[in-house]
Amino acid sequence: VPAAMMDVAECGVRVMCRFRPLNESEINRGDKYIPKFKEEDTVGKPYVFDRVLPPNTAQEQVYGQCAKQIVKDVLGGYNGTIFAYGQTSSGKTHTMEGKLHDPQLMGIIPRIANDIFEHIYSMDENLEFHIKVSYFEIYMDKIRDLLDVSKTNLSVHEDKNKVPYVKGCTERFVSSPEEVMDVIDEGKSNRHHSSRSHSIFLINIKQENMETEKKLSGKLYLVDLAGSEKVSKTGAEGAVLDEAKNINKSLSALGNKTHVPYRDSKMTRILQDSLGGNCRTTIIICCSPSVYNECETNQDHQDNGVCE
Ligand code: ADP
Ligand code: MG
Repeated sequence: VPAAMMDVAECGVRVMCRFRPLNESEINRGDKYIPKFKEEDTVGKPYVFDRVLPPNTAQEQVYGQCAKQIVKDVLGGYNGTIFAYGQTSSGKTHTMEGKLHDPQLMGIIPRIANDIFEHIYSMDENLEFHIKVSYFEIYMDKIRDLLDVSKTNLSVHEDKNKVPYVKGCTERFVSSPEEVMDVIDEGKSNRHHSSRSHSIFLINIKQENMETEKKLSGKLYLVDLAGSEKVSKTGAEGAVLDEAKNINKSLSALGNKTHVPYRDSKMTRILQDSLGGNCRTTIIICCSPSVYNECETNQDHQDNGVCE
């Protein structure tokens, strides 16, 4: 876990750490299970997070601890970001999406869809809701629209309040959790380079009270970051490695409250606005418990936040 991830814990951003269980190939290889949790007999340097989610944590509990409050806040007019960080196969997609149509194994995004519409259906005030979603990926600093494959290089612009947004990205109006799931299925089928690219699912909620005309709007970014792996294992290099370092740097900058000049990547530009100020942010650091991945898991083994 990069040092930067620890720093942001001090500035109101919640940092969670989720360990998955050993998988079948790790068990077959006889890999040692390395994490030690609170009150176990720990050796070495302890890490502190807002929450640690050990391997037996159910998807519903992860949702309750990492997302439920942010969804309430976004429905109350705040902006929010939840992102999953970790090496490939550490459980990022399982955490963010999971098995979309399985009530037990569905991840954070489908549970958010359910919660938002449950909230809307339960309101007895005279409120009108407009929910829009977008789905895009960033690969080698290019933004590809997952809902319109003809848009392969969208750019980041700023609105009049200096809030960055992806210009020209497809927006779909949705009026039920099933429609949200359909959009995710559609977007997933258009994904390329899924472990090397960041995927971003954006939910935009606008509501208006028809009596008082009071308006509220909130945006929720749900980010499945590109794999943060040890370079020699996968051959990640160049732009992908630079980008991993840039994300760490922009998180450091936030934690230290000093300006760190970083290369202007599209991902860091989008995240930059979503991490500070009037924003609710949770970072879920996903980890493998296997000794094989010790370098990625343990920052003491890393150089500059990245295993090389
Ligand atoms: P990533 O997106 O980080 O590359 P995945 O989410 O695809 O990793 O996880 C890799 C594999 O491990 C998948 O088959 C997934 O279902 C499984 N997995 C990940 N996390 C868990 C977990 N907490 N419990 C059970 N299986 C998991
Ligand atoms: Mg994944």
